[in-house]
Amino acid sequence: MMHTTLLPWHAPFFAQWHAQPNRAHAYLLVAPEDTGGEALLHHLAASVLCEHPTKTHEPCHQCAGCNMLAAYSHPDLRVIRPSMLDINHPIEELRPEKPSKLITIDDVRELANMVNQTSHRGGTRVVLVYPAHKLNLNAANALLKTLEEPPPHTLFILLAHDVKQLLPTIVSRCQRVNLPAPATHDAVDYLTAHYGANPNWAHYLIQENGAVQRVAELHDTAYFKLQDAFVNELAHGKHMDALKLAEQFDKHIKDADKSRLAGEPHIVSMSTVMTWLQRWLHDALLVAQHVAEPRYYAAHASALNKLTTHAPETFVTRAHAWQYALSQEQRSSEHPLNNRTWLEKLLLQYTQLF
Ligand SMILES: [Zn+2]
Repeated sequence: MMHTTLLPWHAPFFAQWHAQPNRAHAYLLVAPEDTGGEALLHHLAASVLCEHPTKTHEPCHQCAGCNMLAAYSHPDLRVIRPSMLDINHPIEELRPEKPSKLITIDDVRELANMVNQTSHRGGTRVVLVYPAHKLNLNAANALLKTLEEPPPHTLFILLAHDVKQLLPTIVSRCQRVNLPAPATHDAVDYLTAHYGANPNWAHYLIQENGAVQRVAELHDTAYFKLQDAFVNELAHGKHMDALKLAEQFDKHIKDADKSRLAGEPHIVSMSTVMTWLQRWLHDALLVAQHVAEPRYYAAHASALNKLTTHAPETFVTRAHAWQYALSQEQRSSEHPLNNRTWLEKLLLQYTQLF
């Protein structure tokens, strides 16, 4: 396993966290999606489980604790996350038989065995839970019980992107910390250091709302090309061929599902397409109301201008209503009955706004 890393934009928090005189028994870190929150959780765990950390609390990568962590076999660490994330786990026995997109009661139940025993290495036991909003209700209730009667010498660190989707009782049991998305220049520096210079870094980051890990994962796939092709079609407004676009993207989504099973990055899903549509609409509304420059698709500013200048007077009102309806629909976009029918419906509704 590669060693855990501390991303530069988390360094101030990491130092502060270790400087606390008294540690809470449970933390809830709230970070925007794909900004490296998971890496921070693992690095915090590594720094706690290391038996000879450096003065700056970095793991030594040499002690028994660090070696067991690197071999995925530290007895005092539990990682509770949707089993779907382990389908390509480097250790074959740790791959799930029935991958789930949610954290289930079985994932949490296993925890009871661990916390009822004494620590194997005599130190703190660490339980990481992410993303915590993927706990299903039974799992959330089981975790809550453990948090209400915290076992000794056990540190819980939860990560969530959206606190509103968590049980309030879980939130109130944790010390909450909000972590910001990295500043664009920090994220550009990071991407340049790891993937080389690219004139599009800042542009990609803005388009992806600062989700630096997502940009890192997708920059050399067809993702940004597909997104451009999609919004270029949206720019045609009422003249867009909604059925053809739905057919094309239904196929792209199917292809992406196949490549994901082969262990490649999942470049496009129904949820991705809905996010693009929402961001485009967000920008169209900004431009139509002369409120601000486009937030996500600045490169398409003139297309957005042209589109909204020719839109009917009722556009703003109807687009607002539709935007709300879309956000409601997005909640179920992970498991649509039929992507193509759904896409056709949404894209036809879109053309009717103009
Ligand atoms: Zn160590």
